[in-house]
Amino acid sequence: MRIVTRLSMTLAAAILAAGSATHIAGAADPDAPAMAAVTALQCGHLIDTAGGKTLGETTIVIEGGHIKEVLSGIRPPSGAKVIDLSTQTCMPGLIDAHTHLTGETSRTEYVDKFHWNVADYAIRSTVYARRTLLAGFTTVRNVGDQANESVALRNAINAGIIPGPRIYTAGRAMGTTGGHADHTNGYRTDPDLAGDPGPTEGVINGVDDAVKAVRLHYKLGDDLIKIMPSGGVLDENTSGDNAQMTLEEIKAVVTTAHDYGFAVAAHAHGAEAIRRAVLGGVDSVEHGTFMDADDMKLMVEHGTWYVPTIIAGDFVARQSKVPGYYPPQVAAKAAAIGPLIQATAGRAYKAHVKIAFGTDAAVYPHGQNAHEFELMVGAGMPPMFTIQAATISAAQLIRHDKDLGTVTAGKIADVVAVPGNPIDDISLMKRVSFVMKDGVIYKLNSVPVELSP
Ligand SMILES: [Zn+2]
Repeated sequence: MRIVTRLSMTLAAAILAAGSATHIAGAADPDAPAMAAVTALQCGHLIDTAGGKTLGETTIVIEGGHIKEVLSGIRPPSGAKVIDLSTQTCMPGLIDAHTHLTGETSRTEYVDKFHWNVADYAIRSTVYARRTLLAGFTTVRNVGDQANESVALRNAINAGIIPGPRIYTAGRAMGTTGGHADHTNGYRTDPDLAGDPGPTEGVINGVDDAVKAVRLHYKLGDDLIKIMPSGGVLDENTSGDNAQMTLEEIKAVVTTAHDYGFAVAAHAHGAEAIRRAVLGGVDSVEHGTFMDADDMKLMVEHGTWYVPTIIAGDFVARQSKVPGYYPPQVAAKAAAIGPLIQATAGRAYKAHVKIAFGTDAAVYPHGQNAHEFELMVGAGMPPMFTIQAATISAAQLIRHDKDLGTVTAGKIADVVAVPGNPIDDISLMKRVSFVMKDGVIYKLNSVPVELSP
C-alpha cells in the first residue's frame, strides 16, 4: 500500500467524503512490495479523441500505471477504489508540444541572465513543472533551455522526486551566429562577455558544426532537436523572420538527427525559413507567423506538423506596450509579429496542415497553457479539433501515440477532467479539476495533492 504521509486538509476531507482512499501522489516506500491497486474513474463523459466524439458515462479502470479497461456506464468494478467524476468530462492527459520549463518571462529576465547560474533556472523549473502538471498537462515537449538543465528536470520527475509532466526535451536550441539561438546577441563585444559561442553552446556555422551539435545532444541525453532557421522575437537582434540557416545546414541537422532517432522541431516565423525547414525534412514548424500558401501546400505534401503557439504571440503583443518590459528591439518585433499568429493558424487549419497543440510556455507565465484552446477556437478551429491537437495529434508528433493521446486499454494512465462539457464551453479547459499521470493522482476535486517530503 502506498502510504500518504501528508495531505492537505481539504483533500483529506474530500477523500473521506468520497468514502475511499486512493493511489495518491507522494513518496512511496522504495522497499515496499509493488502494489497492484485498481482504481476506477467514474466519468460523467469521456472524450474519445480517436473518434472525435464525446461519450456518455464511462468507467476507466486503472491498474499499475496503465489503463486496464474502459467500460461504458458507471460501474463499480470489484475491489477497485472509486473516484467519482460523474459531474466531469474525462479526457486523456494533455500534451503541450512547445514549452520552455526552465525559464519564465519577467521584467528582469534580460538582466537576470547576467546574474543567474544554471542552478537558478533549474530550481525555479521545479515550480513551473508542478504548475504545468496541475493545469492538466501530463506530457510536454521542451524545445530549448539554458544549458541542458531540462534533462535534470526530466530525470527528477521520472524518478518521482518532484511532480511534473513527462518531459521530452531538446536541451539547448540550435541556430547560427547572431541568430535566435545565439544567447550573446546584444552583448558588448569583449571576449569576456560575448565570446564566440560554437556547437557546444548551440551555435553552428556550416555542415560540420551542425553534425557535431546534434551528436553533442545525443551525448547529453536529449530526446529531440530544436533548430532556429529564422529570426525570433525575444532575442536582442533586429529581424524576427529572416532566414538564418542554409538549406544545407538544415539538411545536415535533420539527416544526423534522424540517424540518432531524434525528431527535429524548427522555430520559424519567415516564409523562406519555413520553406527551407520543410524541404530540409524537419518534423514540425513552430510559430509559423508568415507562413504563406506555398509553405502550407509544401507542409501538407511533406506531412510536416505545425505548432502555432498563438498564446505566446498574444502575450508578447500585449507586453510590448508595457514600457520597459522588453528591450526596445524586442518590443518592436513583439508588436509586429505577435498579433499575426492567430490568423496564420486559422489559415493553416483551413489548408489542412497537420496541427499539434503547443504554447511556448515561459514566454507567458507557466500554468496558463490552456488559454491556447480558446485562441485556437478563436482562429476558427472546432473545440474537438483543439482537444485532439493536445492529445492524439500531439502524441503522434512526439512519436508516442502508442502509449499516449487516447483513453484506451493498455495505454499509460494519464487522465484529466474538467467540470462540464468543454465542447460547449472551451474555457473549461482552464479549469482542470482532476489530474492523473502514470496512474497517480496529482489533483482531485480541483485541489492539488501535496507531495510527501
Ligand atoms: Zn519557444
